[in-house]
Amino acid sequence: MTGDQTKAIHSGEHPDPATGASAPNIVMSTTFVAGPEATFSVEGLDDDTGWFYTRWGNPTIHQLEEKLAALEEAGAAVAFASGMGAISALLLHLLRAGDHAVISDVAYAALSEMTNEMIPGLNIGITKVNASDVEAVKAALRPNTALVYIETPCNPLLRLTDIASVAEAAHSVGAKLAVDSTFATPVATRPLLLGADFVIHSLTKYASGHGDALGGVVLGNKADLAGLRKKTAIRLGGVISPFNAWLIMRGLATLPIRMRVHEDNALKVAAYLERHPKVKRVIYPGLPSHPQYELARRQMKNFSGMIAFQVEDGKEAARRLAGRLQIIHYAVSLGHHRSLIFYLDSAELLSTSFRFSTPEQLASWNVYAGEGIFRLSVGLEDAEDLIADLERALG
Ligand SMILES: *Cc1c(COP(=O)(O)O)cnc(C)c1O
Repeated sequence: MTGDQTKAIHSGEHPDPATGASAPNIVMSTTFVAGPEATFSVEGLDDDTGWFYTRWGNPTIHQLEEKLAALEEAGAAVAFASGMGAISALLLHLLRAGDHAVISDVAYAALSEMTNEMIPGLNIGITKVNASDVEAVKAALRPNTALVYIETPCNPLLRLTDIASVAEAAHSVGAKLAVDSTFATPVATRPLLLGADFVIHSLTKYASGHGDALGGVVLGNKADLAGLRKKTAIRLGGVISPFNAWLIMRGLATLPIRMRVHEDNALKVAAYLERHPKVKRVIYPGLPSHPQYELARRQMKNFSGMIAFQVEDGKEAARRLAGRLQIIHYAVSLGHHRSLIFYLDSAELLSTSFRFSTPEQLASWNVYAGEGIFRLSVGLEDAEDLIADLERALG
């Protein structure tokens, strides 16, 4: 199997040996009949341990993990109940008291908030940097830096990070690089092939693709992931339900096809917004006007479906859009077949989720977001209908 679409359909799956069923079964059992030689502690867990207890591993969850590892070209994957479940597991797995981590200053809000207070409370030093500036990342590294954590494209600004350059910098001090690749998906970018040590996805977004299942995953090499499974999945316990694993596996089967349509629609909608007289600025990695268009072309095989844009008086425009849109849902989340839009007010975000420590960080935010931005997740509807819906609402 070499093609992405073939892997998306067949990896991790096989006809059921007992019934010949072509589609995967859902194994909901939490426990499995074991032999008398089975050990009770997870310390006894190794490659030969059969199915034992679903928090340790489960046939349906395993199928999802195999499919994700194939698509990301990773040695192994561990699935979690949500993207934040995956992120918190990875941070608690890698960081010890006395360690230091460099974290992108603009990233998923809950990760940002977690690293503002909770992680420093464990006596782990955190430095937030604009990770699109490789020199800023290098300047933040210390001898005890254990982790560099980035998101590309980042939520919600769609600013990019050069993964290969940051990986080289992180490794120069012995730090690991983790990349939240939720916006890119493995269809666009394979961070592990560019030097990253770990990749994270919120499976709730493009992977599931239909807005009906929460999930998350950490991918990396086999040895790292075996340790992560023992310490965090099994002991912290935030594992995914087999039913959600099955739904997400079904979503993944069409991921490459869907990403083509997301990109195609987003290119059309971004071009429309860029021509709109009330729109001040459009940020989309597939537009030549994106400040990092060159990097986007080098690092993304697909520009994905996420667009950010600014208008005059965003708060008033948000009220108009929430009331007038007929197709696009005014709602958070992203990557669904349905288009979603949400307004993010800068003053609010900068007082809650994001903490900047330098004038350069604030200046970069202002260049991208101004007083606030709309985050538009372009879905799989007909582009003409989405444009007509925006036209009706923007006026
Ligand atoms: C949604 C999201 C998360 C968190 O995922 P959940 O499944 O909601 O916990 C993390 N990172 C990014 C980039 C996201 O968009």
